[in-house]
Amino acid sequence: MALVNEHYLKLKAGYLFPEIGRRVRAFADANPTARVIRLGIGDVTQPLPPVILKAFHEAVDDLAKGETFAGYGPEQGYDWLIDTIIDKSYRPLGVNLKTSEMFISDGSKCDCANILDIFALENVVAIGDPVYPVYNDTNVMIGRTGEADERGYYKGLVYMPCTEANGFNPAFPEQKVDIIYLCFPNNPTGAVATREQLKGWVDYALKTDAVIFFDAAYEAFITDPTIPHSIYEIEGAKKCAIEFRSFSKTAGFTGVRCALTVVPEELMAHTAGGEAIQLNKLWNRRQTTKFNGVSYPVQKAAAAVYTDEGWRQTKEIIDYYMANAKIIRGGLAEAGLTVYGGVNAPYIWLKTPHGLSSWDFFDKLLTECNVVGTPGSGFGPNGEGFFRLSAFGHRENVEEAVERIKKNLK
Ligand SMILES: *Cc1c(COP(=O)(O)O)cnc(C)c1O
Repeated sequence: MALVNEHYLKLKAGYLFPEIGRRVRAFADANPTARVIRLGIGDVTQPLPPVILKAFHEAVDDLAKGETFAGYGPEQGYDWLIDTIIDKSYRPLGVNLKTSEMFISDGSKCDCANILDIFALENVVAIGDPVYPVYNDTNVMIGRTGEADERGYYKGLVYMPCTEANGFNPAFPEQKVDIIYLCFPNNPTGAVATREQLKGWVDYALKTDAVIFFDAAYEAFITDPTIPHSIYEIEGAKKCAIEFRSFSKTAGFTGVRCALTVVPEELMAHTAGGEAIQLNKLWNRRQTTKFNGVSYPVQKAAAAVYTDEGWRQTKEIIDYYMANAKIIRGGLAEAGLTVYGGVNAPYIWLKTPHGLSSWDFFDKLLTECNVVGTPGSGFGPNGEGFFRLSAFGHRENVEEAVERIKKNLK
């Protein structure tokens, strides 16, 4: 008899997006002439820029010829891609990395889930609330937690509230933890960490011997020049942090799939007996055993992002989304709403008016403005009373949604 991994049975059924879909369908059925605008998604909407597409096509053609055909590549990614990223994206920040410290993958979602493979279950893990749900659920799946309580907090995980009062930058955990997930710029709140705040986390991790998982999926959306793009801009971070980055939101690769994880060679964790082990070695072992690399054309397309023309075209799309964010932010403020985020991140985190619950505001926005967003409570109990709007979308839709909100939201 085959037994299942019962930890999976502790998971709450995926509720947020199916419920949004259900309510939107019910509204659309009852109001067939309404033109519903969706600003709820965390997916890009603009097509790939021409320089990147060209590199992608050319790499596919390489596969058609004996002389240029590529089979299995290195599991860690091709050196020409890794060195380009180090050169074009890290060196300008004053961060020097070795080729062996970067691992190319097919997504940050998988990497920030798979990284748990190389850590003992006994580690105490801290995550934000509200949070990108992957951090929570993957810890449940691997067996680090007990059951969820009525709020949705799993026994054994340490939750760090991200609230209006702390500017959505959580305080240090009250108890000793071994692993800390940080996501800046943040999904869903759009919050960023200043250099001082990030230095606070690095110093804290070094002092308490904790490892930080730093999810920088949205670093390319930072507009404030004082905000760090990488945790390695902070002194000492190579001794305490793993960084995740993705081409998904940066370059429209959500459907193409390419990301990277940095595991510095200086970063150590310990055996129960106290022996120091390089996490880089373990991650390399894990990846070379369980992963066979990202496809050659995808890595060629990713390398094209960092050519001069590729980056110009990529940046133009990022600027387009951030101009959307500004329109949304400005319009909501004019409508009298309290808004956060949207300056260094493609998400606007608004406070629901009149103390409405996140779902009541969802219904109000849907029925009065025919606009769809994401209830903050879907990201954790401290998201209750908040609501996420995404800047990924077409300009005309964004403008119309904002006009409707200004005119109709009562
Ligand atoms: C979109 C997103 C990612 C990227 O995931 P991919 O698997 O690389 O597409 C990672 N972290 C957060 C918080 C995200 O919102």
